[in-house]
Amino acid sequence: MVSPLRHTLIALSKSSQMQKIIVGIPISRRMARRFVAGETLADAIEAIRATNGAGLLATLDYLGEHVYNQAEASVNADEYIRALQAIQQTGVDANISIKLTAMGLAVDDEFCYHNVRRIVQAAAELGNFVRIDMEDSPVTDRSLHIYRRLRAEFPNVGVVIQAYLYRSEEDVRSLMEQGMAHLRLCKGAYNEPPAVAFQPKPEVDQNMTHLIQLMLDSQAQFPGTYPAVASHDHRIINWTKAYAHHHGIATDRFEFQMLYGIRRDLQQQLADQGYRMRVYIPYGTRWYPYFMRRLAERPANLLFFARALVGN
Ligand SMILES: Cc1cc2nc3c(=O)[nH]c(=O)nc-3n(C[C@H](O)[C@H](O)[C@H](O)COP(=O)(O)OP(=O)(O)OC[C@H]3O[C@@H](n4cnc5c(N)ncnc54)[C@H](O)[C@@H]3O)c2cc1C
Repeated sequence: MVSPLRHTLIALSKSSQMQKIIVGIPISRRMARRFVAGETLADAIEAIRATNGAGLLATLDYLGEHVYNQAEASVNADEYIRALQAIQQTGVDANISIKLTAMGLAVDDEFCYHNVRRIVQAAAELGNFVRIDMEDSPVTDRSLHIYRRLRAEFPNVGVVIQAYLYRSEEDVRSLMEQGMAHLRLCKGAYNEPPAVAFQPKPEVDQNMTHLIQLMLDSQAQFPGTYPAVASHDHRIINWTKAYAHHHGIATDRFEFQMLYGIRRDLQQQLADQGYRMRVYIPYGTRWYPYFMRRLAERPANLLFFARALVGN
């Protein structure tokens, strides 16, 4: 079952009052640095450089979500275009990950589409790739609709599918049939009700391996099908490795992805074993909701934070 603690922390990640309190405490900023590369683009490029130096790929996330005006959403898109140019100029190996609610999804779908299109077009011109992160289920349909419109025009864009949603198998199947299945598969990071999502963790895990298998099995039938397995769960990772090995699937037909600061040992191990390993590297000042979701995923993180707060 979804733990009440996880549920509460994810709910708090949306509270502006709690944000003011947490962000105002110096220890929070220090702890957030474990998961965030820094506040500036230069910090992020440095983190990518170090990541690449260890043989790992990267995807860059300019933190921010739930923007409610066009001006702010346009500034966010401009920053991503600046990031794409910096990636090109510095020669580091990274693509980018964006959130549609940072690009104006709450303002207007058409505005959001055009704002994101600017980024995808800039990335295409620079030979780079854009991943659209997936947020909570009220925006799944609209996010996939925007993705399909972009993907019909540009090959250099992919999206995320969350294994906790019942609908995901159908989404994966239809995206594969449309030749649009450049997909990051993850378990899912938001609070979702039983009406739309598996609640028991074993069922989420089972659907995750089911979707990975579905994609790996379908690569010959549906060209363009490429799964990125985004998980720190060693059972999911070992299962994927074993499945690929037993079915003769080459290591360049899929990749692993993990978040900056989490399971670095495992990240390095996979890269050393010859797997494609991509690290999701967030930067910027608006780290609060991202940080809270990371606390929610692991009670030990919260305990560590609570101890630091009371100075122990
Ligand atoms: C690259 C990447 C991109 C993602 N993009 C999205 C997205 O677009 N939309 C979305 O909804 N979700 C996204 N997620 C988050 C994902 O949905 C999960 O919430 C998160 O990855 C935790 O699930 P898990 O697969 O790691 O397995 P879990 O079963 O949660 O964890 C397995 C083990 O991993 C380690 N671990 C997991 N989380 C943490 C943590 N925070 N701190 C320390 N150790 C941890 C622990 O050892 C834990 O026992 C993304 C995750 C990754 C890795």
